[in-house]
Amino acid sequence: MTIHLTIGWLYPKLMSTYGDRGNVICLERRCQWRNLDVSILPLDQDTDIKTFSEFDVIVGGGAQDRQQEIVMRDLHGEKAEIMKEKINTGIPGVFTCGSPQLLGNYYEPAIGQKIDGLGILDLVTKHPGQNVSRCIGNVAFDIVASPLLEDLKEMLGESPTVVGFENHGGRTYLGKVSPLGKVVRGYGNNGEDGFEGAFYQNSIATYAHGPLLPKNPFLADWLIIKAIEQKYQKKITLTPLDDSLANKGRKAMLKRILT
Ligand code: GLN
Repeated sequence: MTIHLTIGWLYPKLMSTYGDRGNVICLERRCQWRNLDVSILPLDQDTDIKTFSEFDVIVGGGAQDRQQEIVMRDLHGEKAEIMKEKINTGIPGVFTCGSPQLLGNYYEPAIGQKIDGLGILDLVTKHPGQNVSRCIGNVAFDIVASPLLEDLKEMLGESPTVVGFENHGGRTYLGKVSPLGKVVRGYGNNGEDGFEGAFYQNSIATYAHGPLLPKNPFLADWLIIKAIEQKYQKKITLTPLDDSLANKGRKAMLKRILT
């Protein structure tokens, strides 16, 4: 069976402020290294509606408040319906910082109007104002969301601590949606409740830039497996890759973060 995956890249021109394009590159390479056919589909303001739905896995990066407002204006309507339908039916995705804020119910930026979100994730984000320090720094967290936690344990024999870097002013508060993880070090969603990110269907929402996937390649493989399972309705085991360099980097980061 020939496998082809299309990676949808959410508004690359507007939501690439914090280097999350590395998540797109990581997914693409980890498919190519396994001879899996893969392509990248920019999901932008000039993407027509039919094309906008043609992705098997989606990546959304971070952005400044202003760009988030522009994206939300473009997303409302048919594009929003496509996003809701695909995420609600389990298309896998990884959404970082500004992206999950837009998947939530609303985002109150530091200045300007409240931005209504897509309401896919039951969460809200409030920016406490420009005079309040941003949540910036290395972050480490343990996965608590099911079935991601169980899947990682099955894949790896354990669920490794996730490492990343956060840089956000908005504070996110979860409603009826699972947190992605429990903070080990750093702020996480709001620096108060000890939770980081959110998890819904096969969507990973997180404040962890880094980029996330090159620093935690097991999450990239989880997304690839889910995308293939969803598209071809069959279970698959990926050929293992040599992640010794990434694991060395993770170990060094964890040592730096935890000591
Ligand atoms: N502009 C949003 C905030 O400051 C998102 C930032 C980001 O994407 N890193 O919270």
